[in-house]
Parts: sequence; C-alpha cells; structure tokens
Amino acid sequence: MKENLKALNLLLSDSKNIVITVHKSPDGDAMGSSLALYNHLYYMGYKVHVITPNPYADFLNWLPGNKNVVIYSEQNNLATKITNNADLIFMLDFGQLYRLDSYSDIVKKSNAKKVMIDHHQEPDLNISDIQFIDVKASATAEIIYEIFENLDWHNLISKDVATCLYTAIMTDTGSFKYPSTTERTHRIIANLINKGAKNSLIHDLVYDNNSEDKIKLLGYCLNNKLLVFKENNAAIISLNQEELNDFRFKDGDTEGIVNYALSIKNIIFAVFIIEKDGMVKLSLRSKGNFKVNDIAKKYFKGGGHNNAAGGISDFSIKKTIDNLKEIFIKYNKQLNNTKI
Ligand code: 5GP
Ligand code: MN
Repeated sequence: MKENLKALNLLLSDSKNIVITVHKSPDGDAMGSSLALYNHLYYMGYKVHVITPNPYADFLNWLPGNKNVVIYSEQNNLATKITNNADLIFMLDFGQLYRLDSYSDIVKKSNAKKVMIDHHQEPDLNISDIQFIDVKASATAEIIYEIFENLDWHNLISKDVATCLYTAIMTDTGSFKYPSTTERTHRIIANLINKGAKNSLIHDLVYDNNSEDKIKLLGYCLNNKLLVFKENNAAIISLNQEELNDFRFKDGDTEGIVNYALSIKNIIFAVFIIEKDGMVKLSLRSKGNFKVNDIAKKYFKGGGHNNAAGGISDFSIKKTIDNLKEIFIKYNKQLNNTKI
C-alpha cells in the first residue's frame, strides 16, 4: 500500500485531466465509489469526469455529482474526447477490460496512466499502472476510504463524498448483512455518518423509491416464476424479454429479485436469469462457503465474489434452466452440506 500510495501521489501531482470509470451496468458500489472520488478530486481542483459504459438504475440518480456523469453508450463522441484528453484514468470496481463493454477499446488505446481500485478476485494486473486490490473489502468504497485515510484526505471528506461512500458500502453489503461486513466496515460507516451522510435518508432514497411497475414485476416473479429445487437447496427465477416488456422494464427493476429466492429457508444457491437485448444473463447468489464465482467461471463465462457472481449463457432460458438443474445435481452433496 505505502509504495502504491507514493506512486499515486506522484501521478496525481502530474495530472490535470482525470477520468473515473466503472463496470458496465454500474451498481451502487460502482457509482458511489466513482462519485465519491469525483467529488473529492473536483474539490481539489482537478478537471474530472465520471464515464460509465452504459446507463444505470434510477435509484442511483440522486447521488451528488450524478448530473455530470457521461454515459459512453449515449454520448460516444464526448466520452471519447474526454478519455483521449485524460492524463489519469481510475478504474473502479472491476478487474477486466471486457467489463467496460464497447468503451474498453477507448480506455485501452488511451495513453493515460491507469489506477485500478477493486475488490473482485483475480483482476488482470496488466491493464493498469497501479493497483489497489483487496478481495476482503466489503466494497470498492471501503478501499477508497482506506486510500483517503492514508493520503490524509479523510479529514477533508465532505458531506457529498460521505454520502456517496455510504451508499456504495450500504448497497454492496446488502445493508451491512453480508459476511464481508466487518467491524472495520461499521467503523468506516460511523465516520461517514460523522461527516454528514444521512443514513436513514440514504436507505429511503435507494430502497423505498420503487416504481409501481418494479414492485408488480417482483410480485409476478415470486408468484409465477419461482422454481424451488428442495432436494438441492437451490432455486431459480427467470424472466424473458416479453415479460420484461409487459412490466415496462427499466434498468435496475430486477435488482435484488434473486435475494428473495435466496431468503427461502434452506436455500443455499439462488439463480436469477434474465433475457434482455438478445442476451441471457445470470445472477448467482449463495450462502456460506458454496462458491458461486467458481460456477460462474466454469459454466457461464463470468465471475464475481464467493457469494455473489454473474455470467452469461449462450442458450435459451429453458436450456439454461436444464443446464442449471444438472449443475444442482452435480453439486448436490456440497449444497446439502454447506454450513451458513
Ligand atoms: P450481478 O448478479 O449483480 O450482476 O453481479 C454480481 C457480482 O458478480 C458482481 O460483483 C459483479 O461484479 C459480478 N459479475 C456479474 N457479471 C459478471 C460477469 O459477466 N463477469 C464477471 N467476471 N463478473 C461478473
Ligand atoms: Mn463492488
């Protein structure tokens, strides 16, 4: 860390134009981390932009700095121009270039120095000049807080920065309930509240801001689309494009649905499958030491964390469910012996 911080300080003193980017379909940690860094660097006088590969869920669009985010898929030329002009690019909450989708080529070709800050396993270390990686961190925002502390920036944390970091950690820990949540996480959170993050308001803005369509889609999933495989301690929920259209789907509307399947007593492994824009994407969640990132990597060209991972399927939803059933049988012993 010490060496990396020295190198980061040098890069910052040599840079004027900074880009902060995050993985495709950015979640609360990606947006909270990037906007926290954005707000702080802006305050320090840098020319700084957050560029996302594509749009993100509405429940994040109130974050301080949101209105200045540049979305590559919608503002292609502007995002390219800003990136080509950058001296320094921060890559947050992802470890592989492909997670930037079509924006990856622009970042790859850029001559800017690159700093990766991430908590995912097995990041590609060849795509950045400096890395701050901690797979034990509950969120990328926790690593950012750590960097702030080590650079003696933590006393300068503004209410806006605190709000962004709080949102990032809250969302990536499932509101402080996942096993990744530690005493340290709670201490950071306490400091962020001290710096002005309004905890109750943030929970309300993120979780109690649902559209009627989103809640009805959730009801439909639970009532009509939940498959429980009792003997395997596993469950699946799937949605096809037609069903999404029926409920006027918007980005973020299916966020968290998989957790309802996982909340059923004895369920160790839950899968959410979504067919969207001609792709079949999977969200995998688990309890205890059943590692879904291994499953995502082995069968679905994906990855992620031990208990939360994702990937894609080349097959129809029906065939994907059949494949999953085989996987459940193959891992049946492990699924029945997993301790929570
Ligand atoms: P989600 O199910 O919410 O899309 O993703 C859960 C976790 O898995 C996230 O931490 C995300 O970074 C990771 N993940 C999701 N999709 C992919 C993927 O296609 N490849 C990899 N390597 N990780 C993914
Ligand atoms: Mn994260």
